[in-house]
Amino acid sequence: MTMTREYPTFVSHLECSLTGEHYEADQLHGLSREAKPLLVRYDLDALANSITKDDLTTRPADMWRYREFLPVRRGNDIVSLGEPMTPLLTCPRLAAKLGVNQFMFKDESRMPTGAFKARGLAVAISMAKALGVKKVAIPTAGNAGAAAAAYTARAGIDCYVFCPDDTPDINVRETAAQGARVWLVNGLINDCGRIVGEGKDAMGWFDLSTLKEPYRIEGKKTLGLEIAEQFAWQLPDVIMYPTGGGTGLIGMWKAFNELEQIGWIDSKRPRMVCVQSSGCAPAVRAFERGDEQYVEPWPDPHTIAAGLRVPVAIGDRLIMRAIYDTDGFATAVDDDSIRAAGDEVAREEGILMCPEGAATYAAYKKELATGRVTKDDVVVLFNTATGLKYPLPPVTQTLDCHSPIDYTRL
Ligand SMILES: *Cc1c(COP(=O)(O)O)cnc(C)c1O
Repeated sequence: MTMTREYPTFVSHLECSLTGEHYEADQLHGLSREAKPLLVRYDLDALANSITKDDLTTRPADMWRYREFLPVRRGNDIVSLGEPMTPLLTCPRLAAKLGVNQFMFKDESRMPTGAFKARGLAVAISMAKALGVKKVAIPTAGNAGAAAAAYTARAGIDCYVFCPDDTPDINVRETAAQGARVWLVNGLINDCGRIVGEGKDAMGWFDLSTLKEPYRIEGKKTLGLEIAEQFAWQLPDVIMYPTGGGTGLIGMWKAFNELEQIGWIDSKRPRMVCVQSSGCAPAVRAFERGDEQYVEPWPDPHTIAAGLRVPVAIGDRLIMRAIYDTDGFATAVDDDSIRAAGDEVAREEGILMCPEGAATYAAYKKELATGRVTKDDVVVLFNTATGLKYPLPPVTQTLDCHSPIDYTRL
């Protein structure tokens, strides 16, 4: 009901993230003329005059409480499955074990479709609906396709999904179950992206690829708005984010910049840490070389964290800028440490981790050891999807209920 309530909106234009060239608001856009992502810009002075921090507290605890910061003009265009504010879970047992002051997981497993991709796709599909799109296509490592399927089903938009043939099985099935047409492709996510790009004229698709349309990032921006509000507008010291295409990292950085411009936070930023898998770590390689972008795809990318298997990212410059601007860094962890980290968090804290989320905990431990993160830092990690989507270890113990049970041996 609150969705359809009207709020003032403030999008002024879109802007090429490389050249700053302006593009008109309220039209369908892909990449800029320079083939770079477009960023949505707002009349932040007017926004600042229309809403206070206190106004927020009276609104429902969902991502649409930040309506003034989002591009959807009319409440009726919002396509929502109920996107809750997600908790910051402290981990007292692990913190004691590690000897640290405090760290927490932003637990995105509670989002619709079980992954934080819902934030981006909710806004992207709402805008697609508002702008009259009838058919979309998306390349995906799994969760983006599932979220696209769910939101397009609700919007009555046709959805075509292309994923590498080693995408987690449940992602492929949930995508199909929600009415999308899904294909397994014998290549990487970039190959899937190429298929979407090459087919879109013939098929009349709107291309929903990460950062090739400007609104998914606005949805991801709510991660940053939410963290700021949950921290009472005093940001944490470090944010460690599992980075594939980088929408969340870029989105949070954009959120913090907008919040500073309207005077809700000061200039202190969390150090943004990009976490990748050592089997696919193009941003880490670029960071170690001091590069501002990474054009060259990571060769033979492989990792159990499917969402991190992105050999080259269209938003590479924005990812690197978010890291450098905040005095952050990029770090890689291997699959064994990702598995061990996921086991440890589940056993000690009862949070069932996705591999990408487990990577942030593995990276946290690694960086406590190197000293790039200290025990006094307040650190936010991410569980970006529910662990229920991924293979879990089998259980083989059985009991015969018709025979006497030796309870002392259980
Ligand atoms: C997509 C995905 C990521 C990576 O997110 P980006 O915004 O593409 O960097 C991390 N974890 C999970 C579970 C994902 O689905």
